[in-house]
Formats: sequence, structure tokens, C-alpha cells
Amino acid sequence: MAFDLDSALAERRARHQYRQRLTLSGGSGREARLDGRRLINFASNDYLGLAGHPHVVAAMQDAAARYGVGSGASHLVTGHTDLHEALEEALAAFTGRPRALLFSTGYMANQGILTALLDKQDAVFEDRLNHASLLDGGLASGARFRRYLHNQPDNLASKLAGSPARRKLVVTDGVFSMDGDSAPLAALCDVAEAQDAWVMVDDAHGFGVLGEGGRGSVHAQGVNARVPVYMATLSKAAGTFGAFVAGSEALIETLIQFARPYVYTTALPPALAAATLASLDIIAAADGRRQHLAQLVQDFRQQATAQGWQLLPSQTPIQPLLVGREADALALAQQLREQGLLVPAIRPPTVPAGEARLRITFSAAHTQDDLGQLLDALALARRTLNPGDQDR
Ligand SMILES: *Cc1c(COP(=O)(O)O)cnc(C)c1O
Repeated sequence: MAFDLDSALAERRARHQYRQRLTLSGGSGREARLDGRRLINFASNDYLGLAGHPHVVAAMQDAAARYGVGSGASHLVTGHTDLHEALEEALAAFTGRPRALLFSTGYMANQGILTALLDKQDAVFEDRLNHASLLDGGLASGARFRRYLHNQPDNLASKLAGSPARRKLVVTDGVFSMDGDSAPLAALCDVAEAQDAWVMVDDAHGFGVLGEGGRGSVHAQGVNARVPVYMATLSKAAGTFGAFVAGSEALIETLIQFARPYVYTTALPPALAAATLASLDIIAAADGRRQHLAQLVQDFRQQATAQGWQLLPSQTPIQPLLVGREADALALAQQLREQGLLVPAIRPPTVPAGEARLRITFSAAHTQDDLGQLLDALALARRTLNPGDQDR
């Protein structure tokens, strides 16, 4: 009985925190296929609808035909191709930084950056709502680990003041993945600079969506030159897979030498690099998609608020609808699914206790009619589920 797995599983089930995977059988962009049904997908991070874009798909197919599917080795052995190199150059130019480095996933990028830059002599300061990969990387680095209150530069200042650490790194999501709000980057940079700290932004949800040409949160907020470490994933707005870090020559060389999740893993398939190159061209020219997306978000916020739902202060495609109790969030998600809408219930421990929610994500692939269906279903749910319980 040394490994009593069943009781931990039973306990998680009893708390309505048990996770189950959905098995989809196709669809991308606005639609998902589940159990032979077509659902409108409000659960994906494919914000610009590029995962199924014909140019992106064709670029991947074409490169797979020429390079094969697997890269065969790590970047430092023989896995690094001219397609990876071209993508890194394109990402550096796109973000306005000297260099960029590809990682296989965002989780690994964050693990790699934080463990390569920090050790026991250092301190890391993280927003308490940062993505799990940032929290895990900060802990794994061995640096003194401090969390500051969500989006509160003053609280950060009080934690930074007088820190004797060798290196001090302030780490924040650009757009918070479960709340959808943006970090106040200029104010965070002010505080960090005053204490000789560096700032790292994980822009998984801002890259491609925010700022001129989709150049991300740091451009949208005018702080690109003040953020030495910029990281984003390619699996969200870019519609493909993988992640990158952009920054100085010395930062990128440091990661190539010391980031273990970079060194000891197989390079991304070259065809993915080709697909992402195609996607990057589309992103730069996708103002129309971004405008349509912003309109959907604005219309949703106005009408859901009018229906009496509690939203969070998010201006991004991530629009959480606060429900409170786990079981209520699950029931609501289930009711929406019966009406042809795929919206995930997000529960603790992913979000704080008592803050179970629906996490609605919009895509430029959605139509106004899709939004109308969502709003109709939410209006019906408000009448049938106990509306007294919607408050936090
Ligand atoms: C999705 C996400 C990651 C992880 O990226 P993957 O490529 O999926 O591993 C990291 N940070 C944030 C904020 C994310 O939303």
C-alpha cells in the first residue's frame, strides 16, 4: 500500500476537481467534432484561426515532404535546419530584438530560461497568477522565490526593496491565461529598474493578438526596449506549436549553453518551423482578423454583462465568466455543450478556490452568428441554473 493512488483520485473526484479529456475527431478554428457532433469551439487558443489556415497547412505539408517529419536530433547535434534558422531570424525581426531562440514548448522555454538565468544566489519575483510553467521554473531554479499580488507594482516594490540577491528577475504573464487581463508593464518596469532587476514577459496570449501588427504586449504598451526577456508560445495565435525567447545576443547564447530543456531535447520538426514562418507572414498582415476579434470581444462583454454575468476586467479574447463553485461551473459547461457550444469549466487548483469559471476564448474564425448562439445559450442558462449563485 505504499502507493495508495486510489484514495487521492477519489478525493479529487469528491471535490469536483477530477479532470477528464475530451476526444475530438477533427475540426480546427471555429469548429470541433466531438462524439459525431459539430460544436462551436470557444475553448481554443487559436485566436486568429490560423491552425487550419490553408497556407499554413500547405507550408507544413510541403516541408514534411522535403525534410521528413522528425528532426532526428537536438539542435546542438544535427536537429537544427535552415528552416529553424530562418524562423529564428524572422521572430527576431518581428519582435524587434537582436536574436530569438526556438524551444519545443512554452513550458520548456520557461523552465529553461529561469533555470539558466537564476540560481541560489538570485531572487525571482512572480505575479501570483502567473502561468504554472513560470511558477514551476522559478521554483526549479533554486532562486529565492517571491510572489507579489496580482498586477500590483507597489506590492512588487515592497518585495524587491532591499533584496540582497545577485540577480533579481521580475516575471509576469503579458496577458494572464485564466483571467485575460494584461499586466501593467510600464509600471512593473519602473519598479524593476529602480531596483536593478530585469523583467521577463511570457506573452503566450498577447503575441499575434495585441500591438501593431500583432507584435505583442510589450509593443502594445511601448516597453519593448525595457523588457530584456520576451517569451511567447507559437501554439496559440500563431496556430502551430513550440515557443521562442527573444532578446540580446548574450541572452540567447546563454540559453543555448545553459538551458537544459533546450540542450537535452529533440528539435521541433522542421515542417513546424516552415508552418510557423507562413503563419508569421499572415499575422503581420492580419489587422482585419484582429479588428473582427476585438469586435466580438466587445459585443460579448456588453451583452453578457447586460444578462447579469460577472466578467473579469479583460479586453483580450480570453473572457472568463465567474461562476464560483466547481459543480456549478461544470453544470453550466455541460448545458452549453448540449446546445452545441464547447466552453471549458476551469476549476481549482488551476484557479483559486471559489473562483471556478467558464473560460470563453474568442477566435477571429468565429462569426457574429456564433457569438449570438453563445449569448442565447447563456441567457437560457441564467434562467434555468440557480442565478443566485453566480456571485463570487
Ligand atoms: C500555454 C502557455 C504556456 C505553455 O506553452 P506550451 O507551448 O503549451 O507548453 C506558457 N505560458 C503561458 C502563459 C501559457 O498560456
